[in-house]
Amino acid sequence: MTNLTVSFKESSTKKQKPNADKIAFGKHFTDHMFVMDYEEGKGWYDPRIVPYEPITLDPAAMIFHYGQTVFEGLKAYRTPDDRILLFRPEKNFQRLNLSSDRLSIPEMDEDVALRCLHQLLEVEKEWVPKAEGNSLYIRPFIVATEPNLSLAPSRTYQFMMILSPVGSYYKEGIQPVRIHVEDEYTRAVRGGTGKAKTAGNYAAAYKAQERATKEGYSQVLWLDGVEKKYIEEVGSMNVFFKVKGEVITPELNGSILEGITRMSIIELLKDWGVPVLERKISLEELYEAYDQGELEEAFGTGTAAVISPVGELNWGDRNIVINNGEIGELSKRLYDTLTGIQTGKIEDPYDWTVEVK
Ligand SMILES: *Cc1c(COP(=O)(O)O)cnc(C)c1O
Repeated sequence: MTNLTVSFKESSTKKQKPNADKIAFGKHFTDHMFVMDYEEGKGWYDPRIVPYEPITLDPAAMIFHYGQTVFEGLKAYRTPDDRILLFRPEKNFQRLNLSSDRLSIPEMDEDVALRCLHQLLEVEKEWVPKAEGNSLYIRPFIVATEPNLSLAPSRTYQFMMILSPVGSYYKEGIQPVRIHVEDEYTRAVRGGTGKAKTAGNYAAAYKAQERATKEGYSQVLWLDGVEKKYIEEVGSMNVFFKVKGEVITPELNGSILEGITRMSIIELLKDWGVPVLERKISLEELYEAYDQGELEEAFGTGTAAVISPVGELNWGDRNIVINNGEIGELSKRLYDTLTGIQTGKIEDPYDWTVEVK
């Protein structure tokens, strides 16, 4: 499919764009969406941009029964000089294929998928918000569509991309969050689906999240599913700790999602000459570092918040406050640099941004 032709059916009605200062995350969608089908023996076919509307699936479609699905999440940002930028979008489509592989979903040509996204964004350009801190969230996803209750991978799929204008994650400046250490429920285990962006991982996390929310925490910190000893992630973010001037993040072990923000943070730190290590880190070690006065900063990383400082960590009856509950100096520098590059406010020496023209 090198001669890509994406058909376009224009929506006859145009929606009102949401008010910039009160956009709730993931509730508003643009006028069009991208759809492409897959059939065994035929491959991916019929890429099209069509009006955003409900889709029809057979009640026996395999997605409903066995959860064969994967997704991605990235953003388009408007620059001060009115250009539209994507941040390392090729990484998202590479990861989509990695997730698909884990879920026995056929891969797709990453370049084709990215070109389709560019075309969709050209149509929906006006929807990339202008207000400071706002952006257009992009949700590519694949669902298994074959009507069949037998336990085998679907032979048909649908790939879709929908767009949602989102507000600034931090409406009142960066607020460090309170985190609860989850030591009963498990998000993912080695050999499982933790490194794939697939629906089941998130459904399995709600129970713990609900309990944490009820107790006044905004996210949970996940431990490894085998020993409940090593730190894995925070909510749906990767996690970093600064201990005695050195930055540590859990190594990729198969149950951790490899975040593109994580990857970028590691590259930035290396470029700045800040020591950064990917290795196992246990909660015991972290609390010990705290007791020694050596735990300097902690933060989660992901596309939504970019950097989310951890102000407080609660593990059973051990409650610790990190950096006086304030954002650390390095966390702030990382946040400013990354968001600056993403929104075109500062120069991008790494070639991470791609312009939508
Ligand atoms: C998406 C996601 C992340 C962050 O990935 P980014 O590419 O940085 O947005 C981290 N953990 C989980 C579980 C995720 O789903």
